[in-house]
Amino acid sequence: MPELPEVEITARRIGAALAGATVESTLAPGINALKTFDPPLHALDGRTVEGAARRGKMLVVGFEGGLSLLVHLMSAGRLQLYDKRAGLRDRTSRVLVRLTDGRELRLREFGTKQAAWAKLLTAEGLEAEEVIRTLGPEAWPDPPPFAELLVAPRPLHTLLRDQRVIAGIGRSWVDEILWTARLSPFKRGDDLAPEEADALRSATIEVLGGALEHYEQTVTLPIPDKMPMPLRVHRKQGEACPRCGDQLEAVFYEDYVMTYCPTDQTDGRLLKDRRLSRLLK
Ligand SMILES: [Zn+2]
Repeated sequence: MPELPEVEITARRIGAALAGATVESTLAPGINALKTFDPPLHALDGRTVEGAARRGKMLVVGFEGGLSLLVHLMSAGRLQLYDKRAGLRDRTSRVLVRLTDGRELRLREFGTKQAAWAKLLTAEGLEAEEVIRTLGPEAWPDPPPFAELLVAPRPLHTLLRDQRVIAGIGRSWVDEILWTARLSPFKRGDDLAPEEADALRSATIEVLGGALEHYEQTVTLPIPDKMPMPLRVHRKQGEACPRCGDQLEAVFYEDYVMTYCPTDQTDGRLLKDRRLSRLLK
């Protein structure tokens, strides 16, 4: 599930490699992946690629003349640059941008769910786009003070993943950030002491920046299908906490898991397993 650090390294690597290349032709084999028709995808034909950038957890590939391909990878999408074109039978292909030098920028998606999408937008269209317009401040490198940001009476685990509140954090890095700040996932935003808000902001910058630094050392083109995520607690329930040595615990939701250290984060309390409580209702 690509979040801020994974999308940022993708934008950096692909942007640097693509800048100056010329589009030969385009194709959208995933009929549901391309969500716009005006301007049409083939408006890119013959244009130069200017680069790639990140907005929250989304990618923006820029083309000459102010056109942008906005890409949301969702949970299983990947944007990759290859030296050769995809075979027509590659069922993971969603949107293909073929370059005159033979390379191909490919939006792929793994699994059966078709959730990843792309939109071709003008400069004004991009800023007016709902998911861009409603995006909160970037979680990295310099988010505003968290005491101003996390004011809602909602659990931190939910608030930090709300892209309208703060942009870039998802299910993996939220566990790492809360563990680093020693805060309970269920503590409410409006219940944060000023020093806790500061600690959470520092942890956010440290964790996301640390992951990105790790990717700078390890990730090269083609972008790997599976990123070498330097996770310390997320999905490591049952293992020893890397800080205090006590056992990490988890709360299981329908399609994800929240991992935490009871000793460090919840005064030793075990959080209710939502699966079980639902079954008992
Ligand atoms: Zn611990």
